[in-house]
Amino acid sequence: TIYLDHNATTAPAPEVLSAMWPVYERLWANASSQHAPGQDARRALAAARATVARVLRCKPAEVIFTSGATEANHLAVRGLLAAAPAGRTRVLFSAVEHAGHLRLARALAEAGVPVELLPVLPDGRLDLQAAAERIGPDVALVSLMAANNETGLLMPVAEVAALAGAAGARLHVDATQYVGKLPFGFDACGADAVSFSAHKFHGPKGVGALLLRQGVPFSPQTLGSQERGRRGGTENLPGIVGLAAALERLGDDAAMQAEAARQAELRDTLETGLMAALPGAVHVWGRGLPRLPGTSYLRVGCLSAEVLLQRLERLGIAASAGAACSSGGSEPSHVLRAMGVPADEALAAVRLSLGQGSQAPDIHALLAGLPRLLRPLLQEAQAAAA
Ligand code: PLP
Repeated sequence: TIYLDHNATTAPAPEVLSAMWPVYERLWANASSQHAPGQDARRALAAARATVARVLRCKPAEVIFTSGATEANHLAVRGLLAAAPAGRTRVLFSAVEHAGHLRLARALAEAGVPVELLPVLPDGRLDLQAAAERIGPDVALVSLMAANNETGLLMPVAEVAALAGAAGARLHVDATQYVGKLPFGFDACGADAVSFSAHKFHGPKGVGALLLRQGVPFSPQTLGSQERGRRGGTENLPGIVGLAAALERLGDDAAMQAEAARQAELRDTLETGLMAALPGAVHVWGRGLPRLPGTSYLRVGCLSAEVLLQRLERLGIAASAGAACSSGGSEPSHVLRAMGVPADEALAAVRLSLGQGSQAPDIHALLAGLPRLLRPLLQEAQAAAA
């Protein structure tokens, strides 16, 4: 299979698996236990935490390991909101947050919290003017993703951090699609809390972290002594060691930039190749705007995503329609709806997400096969419309 669904998840890297196995075999003791095996586990936990802190430029004490980004997102929003000073009650989410995160927004609203969605512009970028108007002195918290999982568009974290800072509001950033794809430093990002998940960058599934700025008032949501009392429950040490190994293998900023440039070039070859082969039919959302290097979110005419994915499958290519969690459904993407894209166009959206494993022959195979399969369908659709 040619795998073009890296934004959904990635394969665990060999270095990650070989780091994890000895933990299952030999470091299975509880890191809270006082005996020697427990202390060994505790040392491994501390070493993994130190690696995360070094790679993501934060303090070890700012790392809270979780079961992934969904939990980290919930923990950040609920934890910061519960500790917000009196009078700060409003919570702002961008309208294009991950579907799971918007469920939290709805749940909070149903529980009586004044929740508002920050709009995006028709091209998918956050509407900064609207954000500036809404981030006032009664806002407890703004929750914004660093990069959108569907369009790949980078969100203006620094600008929103400045707005939130000026208003005295907290900022949570869901960096799940960003960490591992582009260099990231918690020290300079301006957010109070940042979530990410290991399986998006060749780490194991079911493990992630919330980076929480030291000194920021915070109310834990699962009680226990672990993670300095901020997230109770026996630590998933194999997963945590795997997460650290996955971060470590990304290399330094220069190595990450080089890999990002390589993916962006492949992605651009894919997009220009498709546009040249099917003139006038291909629309790419976010093209020309700052976005993740490997993400291409496109439609071919109004051929449904289902049809496109079937043809891709015939070519041995695995991709998905928008977010993995919502694919299979026939609901248009909430991200495209927030951009004002008509339903028929939104239902045609397919996300091709390249990753570290993607190579030029993958893209050439797609370009050699897909236009040939789609041309007759486009002609049919044109004839039907005429
Ligand atoms: N946030 C974003 C932007 C995502 O892309 C994902 C991935 O599905 C998540 C959160 C949820 O991550 P996880 O499934 O690891 O909890």
